[in-house]
Amino acid sequence: MPTCPICDKDADFSIAPFRNIGQHAHPIFDGIDIATCSSCRSSWATNPPSQSELGRYYSSHYAPARMALDAVPDRPWPPRDPRATSLITLGRLFGRFAPASVFLDIGPGNGTALAAASYMLPRPRLACIEYNERTIALFREKFGDIFVSQSAQNVFDAFGPEGIHFIYSAHCFEHFTIDELRQMLTCLRTMLAHNGVLALEVPQASIDKLRKLPATVPHLIFFSSRGLKALLKSCGFKVELCVETLGRSKAGNAYVQEQLRETIQGSRRRSRDTSAPSTSVTGSAAGRGW
Ligand SMILES: [Zn+2]
Repeated sequence: MPTCPICDKDADFSIAPFRNIGQHAHPIFDGIDIATCSSCRSSWATNPPSQSELGRYYSSHYAPARMALDAVPDRPWPPRDPRATSLITLGRLFGRFAPASVFLDIGPGNGTALAAASYMLPRPRLACIEYNERTIALFREKFGDIFVSQSAQNVFDAFGPEGIHFIYSAHCFEHFTIDELRQMLTCLRTMLAHNGVLALEVPQASIDKLRKLPATVPHLIFFSSRGLKALLKSCGFKVELCVETLGRSKAGNAYVQEQLRETIQGSRRRSRDTSAPSTSVTGSAAGRGW
């Protein structure tokens, strides 16, 4: 029986075709299979494109399409996003963030979380992992001395072990291959401070939903909350809270209220356990982006 690369359990895998259609479709995704673990119900691409193929795809195909939607210069600044505000609020409930600590955003998109962190946290030192040169130029203009890197290793070299107090990532990790994500999470764990926090959000879908989705490109991992928690634990994180909003809340304010309600309940549970060393918070939200 094979071992699931997400939950590490021996399990049966069912296979479905990758749905390489829609706005972001590209020939590098032709013929990819998506396996689903019978234990954790997470899914992943078993034969993903190579790192160099993905790098070329994101710079030449995906980024220009996203830039047209997101980071246009005449958009109001800073961009406001309830997702960033709610995730940072969640993180602050579980982690310590002293003035001038480092806030690291992995896959910052158009900078909504960096902007939110700059007014929600006390004088944060902003850092991000980002590849798009146009986005990087925009961040340098808007955020001054932001630390920008293209790899987790460079961030580690700059800030050292336990050098980051808040790691944030929203709708990014589903674009990784599973091997790449494990490496990234292991590296992030070494960077996270003793009282630090990882707050992340990923989309999810069951295999039944995956079969009906209009397209799966360019996501390569489809998390269940059970799979996400198992993966984080095996990479050394302690999971404090995992909120599953799929099918329970539509986009908008109801989603934020749902997360905060879950958080308050989670922090009450946590207050009975004062032995928590290093913490992480995960949100698992889905579906229709907003
Ligand atoms: Zn599994």
